[in-house]
Amino acid sequence: MPAPQLVWFRNDLRVADHRALAAAAAAGPVHAVFLKAEAQWAAHGVGANRLAFLERNLRALAAALGVLGIPFTVLEAPRFRDAPGTLLPWAQAQGATALHFNDEYPLNERRRDDAVARAFAQAGVAVHRYTDSVIAAPGTLKTGQGGPYTVFTPFKRRWLATLDLSSAAPLAPPDPQGPVRPLGPALEEAMTLAGAAASAVPAKLWPGGEGEAHRRLTEFLAEAALRYDSQRDFPAVTGTSTLSPYLSLGVLSPRQVLSALLAAFPDALEGSGGPSIWLSELIWREFYRHVVAAFDHVSKGEAFRPAFADLPWRQDPEGLAAWKAGRTGLPLVDAGMRELAATGWMHNRVRMAVAMFLTKNLLIDWHLGEAHFMDQLVDGDFAANNGGWQWSAATGTDAAPYFRVFNPVTQSQRFDPEGHYLRRWVPELAGLDARSIHEPWRYAGGPKAYPKPLVDLKASRERAIAHFKAHAAG
Ligand SMILES: Cc1cc2nc3c(=O)[nH]c(=O)nc-3n(C[C@H](O)[C@H](O)[C@H](O)COP(=O)(O)OP(=O)(O)OC[C@H]3O[C@@H](n4cnc5c(N)ncnc54)[C@H](O)[C@@H]3O)c2cc1C
Repeated sequence: MPAPQLVWFRNDLRVADHRALAAAAAAGPVHAVFLKAEAQWAAHGVGANRLAFLERNLRALAAALGVLGIPFTVLEAPRFRDAPGTLLPWAQAQGATALHFNDEYPLNERRRDDAVARAFAQAGVAVHRYTDSVIAAPGTLKTGQGGPYTVFTPFKRRWLATLDLSSAAPLAPPDPQGPVRPLGPALEEAMTLAGAAASAVPAKLWPGGEGEAHRRLTEFLAEAALRYDSQRDFPAVTGTSTLSPYLSLGVLSPRQVLSALLAAFPDALEGSGGPSIWLSELIWREFYRHVVAAFDHVSKGEAFRPAFADLPWRQDPEGLAAWKAGRTGLPLVDAGMRELAATGWMHNRVRMAVAMFLTKNLLIDWHLGEAHFMDQLVDGDFAANNGGWQWSAATGTDAAPYFRVFNPVTQSQRFDPEGHYLRRWVPELAGLDARSIHEPWRYAGGPKAYPKPLVDLKASRERAIAHFKAHAAG
């Protein structure tokens, strides 16, 4: 029996187009492993909704590996620092000669992976690392000065100019290496994640597995992609793909997405319509991963822009609690926060609006919003979440300038003109017409059960701009 090739699965829970799995399977029989790092996930603020989604996808992966005859082991390594001491003895007990895994980019993940690679190298077990969760590997796209990009548009231009479609072609899953393996009660038990039980988001909203991810991709390309440019900002419309949870956990790869997009819309790389704009969003996803890989201070919780590193924020526990509960009295903000609580997901336009409201109108520290999102989101992803929060707070790479403060009333008037989204998530407002629903306090005081606005939008906007301006200048 040849020595097994070990594949360490992390946020790449699929068998098709998995760079590490494909390379390992080409070298010999594969044994797959996953490390349960529950204490580390808790330290990273990963919440129950995400853990429940992770557990469903872990079970789907185990079943897919079982069909391929690939043994799968789940080990406990509560903190990332436990990874080398857990993996190496286990690998040695299997008589393994090689470990394969796909790279991850936040600082703690890189440190974990480097420590594992060092321990294995010292023990004489080969380590092979792959670029998998992005199409362009971090570090390969450089500005004219040779540094990493901090502005999206030139990054995107370079990304497109260097795109090599042949190396971005998705790989098939490996051939079966033996008869189907039943999962067995020990593996079933090992895949249970303690923190997942607290999730109140119905599992049927986000089924696990590669089949579901591809179903969503196919449906989006057939139905909404062509109109993405005109519909993506309207939260009452199913105008976006809802693929973010699947992409962030690697149930779907960006190469699979790109290849399906180009099969459906061969002009997507050049054009300016819906499919091309959608491709830009996938490039934003890569941009934030490159930022995290290049700038360690982002992973340490620091503002990207030094000018705003120690901006003083308001201490306002009641305002924060009202924001989290969707009881700010601003309908769009409340609808978004309630959508998040009920589904573990929020429409992008509304994410921007609630984040702007927290960091500008309430002047509450973006870290608190970032942490709440991480606690609630099914698609919670460090790079995208941090990028989105720092964009909204004006502290990030290529962020919205601090004086561009979204007004949640004009945002919903523009992007939910009939109030369908507001009525769906804020039932207290269901009886209001399309004019009054955006600012119910202006019309005979609004419904009794609904709070008055937490802040005056105009005054709080001016306060925020003055605050940022004084700090930027000082
Ligand atoms: C404050 C804030 C926090 C966010 N937190 C997250 C997060 O934790 N995880 C996450 O995946 N996205 C996050 N986003 C980005 C974006 O809101 C979601 O990716 C998007 O709403 C997911 O819906 P979709 O899959 O239907 O997207 P589509 O519109 O169908 O886009 C396709 C894919 O592109 C990627 N994408 C789209 N927009 C962005 C973006 N602005 N930045 C990075 N990638 C993007 C996602 O992978 C998405 O699935 C955040 C945005 C903001 C403003």
